Amino acid sequence: KKKLHSAGFEHEDKLLGGLLSSRFDQDSCLSRYESASFRKESPYKPSSDLISKLRRYEALHKRCGPYTESYNRTVAKLSSGEMIGEPSDCNYLIWVSFSGLGNRILTLGSAFVYALLTDRVLLVDRGADMDDLFCEPFPEVSWLLPLDFPIYDQFNKLNQKSPECFGNIVSNNSSSSSSSKSGFVYLHLVHDYDANDKLFFCDQDQSFLQKTPWLIMKSDNYFIPSLFLMPSFEQELLTLFPDQQTVFHFIGRYLFFPTNPIWGLITRYYKSYLSQSDEIIGIQVRVFDTRVGPFQYVLDQILACSFRNNILPEINPNESFATPTNSNSKAVVLTSLSSGYFENIRDMYWEHPTVTGEVIQVFQPSHEGYQQTEKKTHNRKAWAEMYLLSLTDKLITSSWSTFGYVAQSLGGLTPWILYKPENETTPNPACIRAMSIEPCFHAPPFFDCKKRSGIDTGDVVPHVRHCEDMSWGLKLV
Ligand code: GDP
Repeated sequence: KKKLHSAGFEHEDKLLGGLLSSRFDQDSCLSRYESASFRKESPYKPSSDLISKLRRYEALHKRCGPYTESYNRTVAKLSSGEMIGEPSDCNYLIWVSFSGLGNRILTLGSAFVYALLTDRVLLVDRGADMDDLFCEPFPEVSWLLPLDFPIYDQFNKLNQKSPECFGNIVSNNSSSSSSSKSGFVYLHLVHDYDANDKLFFCDQDQSFLQKTPWLIMKSDNYFIPSLFLMPSFEQELLTLFPDQQTVFHFIGRYLFFPTNPIWGLITRYYKSYLSQSDEIIGIQVRVFDTRVGPFQYVLDQILACSFRNNILPEINPNESFATPTNSNSKAVVLTSLSSGYFENIRDMYWEHPTVTGEVIQVFQPSHEGYQQTEKKTHNRKAWAEMYLLSLTDKLITSSWSTFGYVAQSLGGLTPWILYKPENETTPNPACIRAMSIEPCFHAPPFFDCKKRSGIDTGDVVPHVRHCEDMSWGLKLV
């Protein structure tokens, strides 16, 4: 199974089974054309309905995107305060940049699916560095919200208390008064959202949103699983994604291509350290602890998971010298904010032979110490590392981490998830094989929209289940 050459795999699927449009300039985004050769061919194929939906979306985006005639007209209406009830030929969903990079990637993907379902044009608040990290995903017309957008400076201030907030509007039952004044509705889908905000996931409360051309969304959650529970979206979602666990796999591969500088980080790393080995193992270590670490109980957990599931071989502690009997080599790419886990595992395989005779190389691209979401180079490395993890053959991830979810879904990898440790103790078992390649929705609603009462939303349809790593979360399987 040796790879053909150091750049990886050769197959005739550069446009990912028709997922990608052919109408792009290659040099502006090298990853769009080169990434296929860094992966095995995906076992998942996009449905023809998804492909045609994306081509129709691209046409809509071209007609309605920034500075088109329709865009200018709809923006003018926003400024003049005239709104709601007025039909508009183009309607928009503005995604506001918010939270860590893994969260941002998942929420932007969720926003795009919602835009597809509601025929809205997705526009992206570039924040500090969205334009630095991602290639333009749609041909010809940008997805970035122009900086001269009239209410750009209000985005920061929008919160649950804003009069334009969807939760406030539905609770006042004055479905148009406050929003008509401002000309937009603000969707607060952040983890701290309340019962009224959560009515976003009820069909009857969605209906008045259809009348407003401008929706502005802040979210830090992958909310697609709950869209599958809404009768108005369910049928179309099932048609677009006959295999429900592939939603983010396709949406992510369609939307998120690293820009050329980040593609450089990814390919140089891959070719230098990973491509020569027989198997590449990804280990994503995310410790939600304010102390620095490394922690012995986490190291023990990583090793217990790797050994138990035959992801990495155990060492032979008694034999200081052994002739390699096995020419197989494995490369481990470990990502973590701290370097301690990597150093320990690397030293272990240096100081001792493996019981199988395999050669284990261990690498870690960066050790940034702590989350620095405002810093450009920091986020570039974070994106490069998520992407590198997605290029592995087997992946171990950490509970609760959107960083890991992005890697697994993009890669089409069913990860082994390290359980969240409690009381500084190594969990037993250390990890669990995921049910699917999908991310987990961490803050789903538990509400039956028809009966107006509580319900276990993880027990309604077979393809929406509670997550392995968060008992109250929801994921597609
Ligand atoms: P989550 O908090 O694990 O769900 O993931 P997010 O990506 O939303 O936020 C964590 C942020 O911390 C990342 O975006 C990075 O800025 C940083 N971070 C966490 N783990 C790593 C890592 O392994 N490598 C790098 N380079 N950055 C990391």
